[in-house]
Amino acid sequence: MKVFHTVSGLRDDLVRDRIQGLRIGFVPTMGNLHEGHLALLKQAKKTNDIVVCSIFVNALQFSLNEDWDKYPRTYQSDSEKLRDAGCDYLFHPDDTEMYPNGLDTQSRVICPTMTDVLCGASRPGHFEGVTTVVSKLFNIVQPDEAVFGIKDYQQLAVIRRMVEDLCLPIQISSAPIHRETDGLAMSSRNRYITDDERPLVTVLKDSLDWIAEQIRDGNKEFSELENMAAERVSEAGFKVDYITCSNSKTLDLAAYDDEDITVLGAMFTQAARLIDNVSLVKD
Ligand code: AMP
Repeated sequence: MKVFHTVSGLRDDLVRDRIQGLRIGFVPTMGNLHEGHLALLKQAKKTNDIVVCSIFVNALQFSLNEDWDKYPRTYQSDSEKLRDAGCDYLFHPDDTEMYPNGLDTQSRVICPTMTDVLCGASRPGHFEGVTTVVSKLFNIVQPDEAVFGIKDYQQLAVIRRMVEDLCLPIQISSAPIHRETDGLAMSSRNRYITDDERPLVTVLKDSLDWIAEQIRDGNKEFSELENMAAERVSEAGFKVDYITCSNSKTLDLAAYDDEDITVLGAMFTQAARLIDNVSLVKD
């Protein structure tokens, strides 16, 4: 595995690869890698000749009261995991390499409407930071395909929309949610869950699964289902951010005749905000 810290270094190698006709796959991450991230890499390896992974904790997508400074940075073990999993190129830029003109005057990519709801409602500016950094990374790597996890469903939907709107010649692929044995979606932020909370946090997934089951059985009283699921999460001791049935593509509130619905949820533990989702149509 080759490691690059600069845009120009990575580009030099990728230019040579492209001249040889090699297909480039890309997996962007913020590091602190777990099996879920490595599954994205393994998926990308199946359909590409060269796979690039990036590790960059993007300050632009964190608001001031969020955990950018304490987000776990575990570069050494991450790079070993990537090497063992067969990553070809690791791109690990620092803040100056990614934002040489500083954050305040950085040009932005904005994907409106879809980013104001769900996680965007409680994390203003978050998705603008995501679409901006992902656009930059896409321009640096110029991949044929990029793989994103369904775990961050809204992020995936927003990036698909950005790629469509801006005519970016990149195939966006999705990878299933990797879970712990009890169903908790793997996440770098799970480390903030206390021992007391840990057996209870699966209530989020269980509640989303329950809604999905109800919809499959023909119950389309979405807001009633959302309220009942939220009550269950509250009774387990967690503050609900949202539990919403959405159109899987637009993220608008699900309509009665929508065929492709995703149920999304977010809740707060004492020190973490956990997200999960369940789609009713397999992709
Ligand atoms: P992160 O570094 O956590 O921001 O995530 C980098 C990529 O890994 C994103 O595409 C995430 O959706 C994906 N990812 C994170 N956790 C999981 C998981 N448990 N299962 C599948 N993909 C995941």
